[in-house]
Amino acid sequence: MGGSRLSELVGLSRSLGLPERDLAVLGEGNTSARLDDGTFLVKASGTSLAAANDASFVKMDLGRTISILDLEGPTDDELGAALLAARSGSAGDLRPSIEAVMHALCLTEGEAVFVGHTHPTSVNSVLCSDRARALSQGAIFPDQIVVLGRYPLHVPYADVGLPLAHALREGLREHKRRVGAAPKTIYLQNHGLVALGKSSDGVDQVTTMAAKHARIMAGVLAAGEPVYLTEEQADRLDTRSDEEYRRRVLQGRR
Ligand SMILES: [Zn+2]
Repeated sequence: MGGSRLSELVGLSRSLGLPERDLAVLGEGNTSARLDDGTFLVKASGTSLAAANDASFVKMDLGRTISILDLEGPTDDELGAALLAARSGSAGDLRPSIEAVMHALCLTEGEAVFVGHTHPTSVNSVLCSDRARALSQGAIFPDQIVVLGRYPLHVPYADVGLPLAHALREGLREHKRRVGAAPKTIYLQNHGLVALGKSSDGVDQVTTMAAKHARIMAGVLAAGEPVYLTEEQADRLDTRSDEEYRRRVLQGRR
């Protein structure tokens, strides 16, 4: 029952929690993975990414978690009770992260199998500024497109919990209408990063590149204005990475 997904999720969480990566401290950040039976695993409240183990995750019902979005202005207690009721099976006294609904959205409408949400110092240095959208307005170097995707999603600031989940759902739907596909990279204004992947490695790579991209962007904004690649240049890279991806799929290297 999702045994290998669980061990992959533990590995991803510990990797994202490594102190030297400066992506999350204390109880910051959370991770999740979709299982094949309409459930998902999400980091329990009060656990740390760095010290994650098999017992750090709560199994939740995807449908029941998504339906929490239908509650009309729940109190904090009602929201807490709804999250507990959306657990699947015998969850003991583990409580899911308040950001569980955001994860459920990424695993359904976001089409991800693994999700990693962190608060990287590098990314938040830009996301907490009035230039936050510089991260998602265009591409400044080729590997940004290849790893982070051509069109990252920027979500305006909203309170953690249901307001953020509603803002994310709206953003995801608008993005898919406009771009025709789910994003791999989501920036939450004044909050942090969400990396979406079909594999745990994919999530780790998006997080690594987003942190590097943000460090470069901070330097760019200190030096002057970003020079974005043109649509034609970005189109060529986008196509090339698709071809490369298909080639690796065909060769069984992905
Ligand atoms: Zn967060």
